[in-house]
Amino acid sequence: MDLQLNYKTAIVTGGSSGIGLATARCLLEEGANVAICARGAERLEKVRADFAGEFGEDRVLAKAFSVLDRAEVEAFAAEVNDRFGGCDVLITNAGQGRVSTFADTSEQDWRDELELKFFSQLNPIHACLPMLKASDAGAIVAVNSLLAYQPEPHMVCTSAARSGVQNLLKSLSVELAPKVRVNSILLGLVDSQQWQRRFDAREDQSQSRAEWYGQLAAKKKIPLGRLGDPQEAARALTFLASPAASYITGAQLEISGGVSRFA
Ligand code: NDP
Repeated sequence: MDLQLNYKTAIVTGGSSGIGLATARCLLEEGANVAICARGAERLEKVRADFAGEFGEDRVLAKAFSVLDRAEVEAFAAEVNDRFGGCDVLITNAGQGRVSTFADTSEQDWRDELELKFFSQLNPIHACLPMLKASDAGAIVAVNSLLAYQPEPHMVCTSAARSGVQNLLKSLSVELAPKVRVNSILLGLVDSQQWQRRFDAREDQSQSRAEWYGQLAAKKKIPLGRLGDPQEAARALTFLASPAASYITGAQLEISGGVSRFA
C-alpha cells in the first residue's frame, strides 16, 4: 500500500525519543520531510544529525523548546513554513504521564498536568492550523492513552486530563472537517524512555530488564504478553496521518496489546 506521504511535510512534537522518534523515522522512510521538537537540545541535535545523515539535510528540521511555550511553537511553525513551504501532518506526541493518587496530587500538580495535556495539543494545533488547512492532505494525529477511558487511581490527574483531551479531539474532528482530519491513538504500555526511567528507579535493583518488563506485562494482564514497541505505535500514527487514511476522522485506535476493558 502506498501511504502517499512522499514530499509531504510532517511535524512531530517530542521527536527526540520513544514514540515520537520512531514516528519521525517512519515518516522519513515514507518520503516525508520531518520537523521535530523537544526541550532537551543535546538529544534533539543528535537525532537531527542522524536523520540528516541518513535521509538528507534538506528533509529534516529540529528545534529545542517546550510545546507549552506558545510563542516558541508559533516561531517553529513559521520556520517549517519557510523551509518546507507548508505542513500537511501534525503529530501531537510530546509529553509524559504523572504518577500520583488524589491524596498525593497538589493543586499545582493539577494545574501543571492539565496545562501539559491540553496545551501540548492546543499550542501546536493553533500554530499549524493555517498550514494544515492550506494542504490537500491536512491531518492531525494525537498521542493519547487508554487512561482516557480506563482511569487508574494511581495516575489520577493524567487520567482525567486524557479524558478531556479525547473529548476536545472529537469536537475538533467535526469543526475542522472536511479540510483537516483529526484522529488519535490510545496507548497501553509502550516501551520508551518513560518506562526506562521507571525501570531505572525499580525497587529491586537486582531485577533484570527482561524480568522487570515481563513482570509488568503480567501484572497489567496484557493479552499479547508484552509491552509495545515504539515502532508499533509509530506505524499506526503514520497510517492515520497519511492520505491512505483519507476517510478516517474522529477515530481512535488502540495500540495496547489488547489490554483495554471497554468495548
Ligand atoms: P519519551 O519520554 O520516550 O518521549 C517523550 C518525548 O517528548 C521526548 O522527545 C521529550 O523530550 C518530549 N517532550 C516531553 N515534554 C515536552 C515538552 N513540554 N515540550 C516538547 N517536548 C517534550 O516517552 P514516550 O515516547 O513514551 O511518550 C510519547 C507520548 O506518549 C507522551 O505524550 C506520553 O505521555 C504518551 N504515552 C506513552 C505511554 C507509554 O507507555 N510509553 C502510555 C501512554 C501515553 P524532552 O524531554 O527533551 O523535552
